[in-house]
Amino acid sequence: MNANFLQTPIVYLKGVGPNRAETLQSELGIHVYQDLLNLFPNRYIDKTQYYKISQLQKSNADVQIAGKIVHIKTVEQKRGKRLVAKFIDDTGEMELVWFRGQKWIRDNLKLNTPYVIFGKCNWFNGVFSMPHPEMELLSDHKKGLRLHMQPVYPSTEKLSNKGISNRVISKLIQQLFVETKGKFSESLSEGLRNELKLISKSEALFNIHFPKNQELLAKAQFRLKFEELFYLQMQLIAKNMLHKQKIKGFNFDQVGVRFNDFYANKLPFELTNAQKRVIKEIRADLGSNAQMNRLLQGDVGSGKTIVAVMTMLLAIDNGFQACLMAPTEILANQHYNGISALLKDTGITCELLTGSVKKSARKPIHEKLENGELHILIGTHAILEDKVKFKNLGLAIIDEQHRFGVAQRSKLWHKNEYPPHILVMTATPIPRTLAMSLYGDLDISVIDELPPGRKPIKTVHRYDTNRLKVFQFIRDEIKKGRQVYVVYPLIQESEALDYKDLMDGYESIVRDFPQPEFQISIVHGKMKPADKDYEMERFVKGETQIMVATTVIEVGVNVPNASVMIIESAERFGLSQLHQLRGRVGRGADQSYCILMTGHKLSSEAKTRMETMVATNDGFEIAEVDLKLRGPGDLMGTQQSGMLNLKIADIVKDNNILKSARYYALKLLKDDPSLKKPENQIIRHSYAQLTKYKNIWNYIS
Ligand code: ADP
Ligand code: MG
Repeated sequence: MNANFLQTPIVYLKGVGPNRAETLQSELGIHVYQDLLNLFPNRYIDKTQYYKISQLQKSNADVQIAGKIVHIKTVEQKRGKRLVAKFIDDTGEMELVWFRGQKWIRDNLKLNTPYVIFGKCNWFNGVFSMPHPEMELLSDHKKGLRLHMQPVYPSTEKLSNKGISNRVISKLIQQLFVETKGKFSESLSEGLRNELKLISKSEALFNIHFPKNQELLAKAQFRLKFEELFYLQMQLIAKNMLHKQKIKGFNFDQVGVRFNDFYANKLPFELTNAQKRVIKEIRADLGSNAQMNRLLQGDVGSGKTIVAVMTMLLAIDNGFQACLMAPTEILANQHYNGISALLKDTGITCELLTGSVKKSARKPIHEKLENGELHILIGTHAILEDKVKFKNLGLAIIDEQHRFGVAQRSKLWHKNEYPPHILVMTATPIPRTLAMSLYGDLDISVIDELPPGRKPIKTVHRYDTNRLKVFQFIRDEIKKGRQVYVVYPLIQESEALDYKDLMDGYESIVRDFPQPEFQISIVHGKMKPADKDYEMERFVKGETQIMVATTVIEVGVNVPNASVMIIESAERFGLSQLHQLRGRVGRGADQSYCILMTGHKLSSEAKTRMETMVATNDGFEIAEVDLKLRGPGDLMGTQQSGMLNLKIADIVKDNNILKSARYYALKLLKDDPSLKKPENQIIRHSYAQLTKYKNIWNYIS
């Protein structure tokens, strides 16, 4: 059946009509035949098999059993009564249980008469029992003509109120198969189908809606998931290729004296292999005539800063300016201090621009930027102000991308005639395949190796009731000369309470760690930037031993002598945030510790988070768990989730299919970039159809 027919508005399908059409549209987004065809069941009720009671397993999902009730009784229990029936077949006995509607059931059930029952079994006190089973007399059951594997479609309250039940939807889909004779045009090439042993499109669509058996259902699911992820990858890769062709970039073809001198004489340590590899990848981009758009992922402490510095040197060697943006003032300051120190005696000029830089100090910065005297500008959002004009910005580096939106990223583009090369650095590890499918327009580099000599951080989970012991531990560490962070959660919704917790906590620490033996800093968002910096500085210099703070210290802050991170109310933090916080310690040669403090009452999800943190230091592993707990939409923010409007595949659960889809999409486009070969016409055509019809309704409604 051709694609145009499937674009027929749903109102024309027999059995629909204007009212139902409207409900289908508003509730399920079904506008045309195609949408109904692509409404895939959430799950299936398997009535292809009959179980014997002796075959039941504790792990069974829904089961169907033929047998009869031989006895029925009411059992009194503390919280009300329940009705219990003894149900037998020729292999054993089990119980059926009702908590609701007991009278009706008692009056209507027939003893010693063959029934077919269906439902979920529990193993309870040594017997299997089925609560509230679906029941049908065997005689009726035999007469009934039924689908064996019943699809269960997504539903909403409004749908059921309007009488569009699961059965109605299934009937409508049947009607669609009648009208199309069940023939749908193939959308994957023969080569791919053979190689991956995929069933045909028509067979897959039939079996996803009316599975003949488990095996065909699995094949249908695999084929449709693969197809969906394959075309998603095709789109992303195509976008990336187009981007590279269209958007010209400055060509940094020279590796000049600045870079070479730094590499030979100023590098404070040997680069790790991962750092070397990433710098190579960046250099290849910068010399490719296309604009670089690269995401640099590296766990906290993996050494992204030096990569940023060396990339800036490449820009300067080629006669361009560079800027580095950080999400907070503290971090911008720290970058400024660190980078200025690295570039000491190189003749490279570097300035800091943040919200708290005074007007009088800004003017010369603006001037030097415009006349090209200034090589590097480091700062916060302040860099994006219209007044800030570069002579020739060739490179923009964004640290900790998750705080900057896409809009801000693109704002940098308009600072120059051509867009600068962009390097986005993040310590939020995104599982690689997921990153590839979400940031298809960015190339990705990963620093997957920590600098040598780091001791893994020891992480423990302690309850509030153990606080005294924790304080003693802090005291011991401070006596050894170490410094300690104590971090409190702060979220907007409960800001007032959170500040109170912070101040209470601060006071109790001040009491337990009295001056002059102990010096304590505090940093939070309500303080003036100058005060924050002052407190931060004292801690960085080692004048204070304890830093009490909210999450403002989450990103980037580098104090190698700090070896203990206490996270208060740790259950209120997400996994990636906990991991980020932990990354503030373990930066020096000493053994470091992270202590997660919580109350005794924890949700099971919070428990998983604590256990994961205790079990591993690996940011990617943590990201995988985080992804499973929260789903990709949350991980990315709203930024990209619209793009992932997947109908059948699940980016987390179907990760392996995703990898294979990406592999085949890349292979195909490498071999035939403009899809000219005859054997790829099917794919070319389907791709065109997909992008033509995709989202068209979003513009209309
Ligand atoms: P992040 O990736 O979290 O931004 P940084 O760039 O701040 O990490 O680096 C963390 C620490 O590791 C810094 O003190 C830095 O000087 C140090 N460092 C970075 N690379 C190396 C290396 N190859 N060998 C030794 N120390 C390194
Ligand atoms: Mg950093």
